Amino acid sequence: MRIGQGFDIHALILGRPLMIGGYCVPAAKGEKAHSDGDVLLHALIDAILGSQGLADIGTYFPPTDPKYKDIPSSILLDKVLKMTKIEIENVDITIILETPRLGPHVAAIKQTLSQLLSLDVRQIGLKAKTAEHMLGELGNGDAIVAEVVLLAK
Ligand code: MG
Repeated sequence: MRIGQGFDIHALILGRPLMIGGYCVPAAKGEKAHSDGDVLLHALIDAILGSQGLADIGTYFPPTDPKYKDIPSSILLDKVLKMTKIEIENVDITIILETPRLGPHVAAIKQTLSQLLSLDVRQIGLKAKTAEHMLGELGNGDAIVAEVVLLAK
């Protein structure tokens, strides 16, 4: 078995969709990004790449490349899954977001992820935390963080 770990952070701005794990959470602000900014999928992609000793997401999908402008990160995930042929045993995720509260959306995000990864929902852990109004932009609701750990064959 191999372990993979990924981290991502994005600023949140008005008028952008809030994409978390391929699921659009209703919110006033969403991730500022070149792609759709899906912070969870970006951390997940880095965890997959890291588990195989490969370079990070920006190496494969440079944010300067116009062909990745506003691209759904689920497409990037699919490319990485095909490229690595990874067999994921389980994935554990923490999202840090001050607002909106993600509790009511956790089941839907896990369901979406289970389809994207062809996993059972019981192979996916997802915790939604806040920053308790600390850590600057994060605690002010102007940023979102994702941390992902996974085991794979
Ligand atoms: Mg990112």
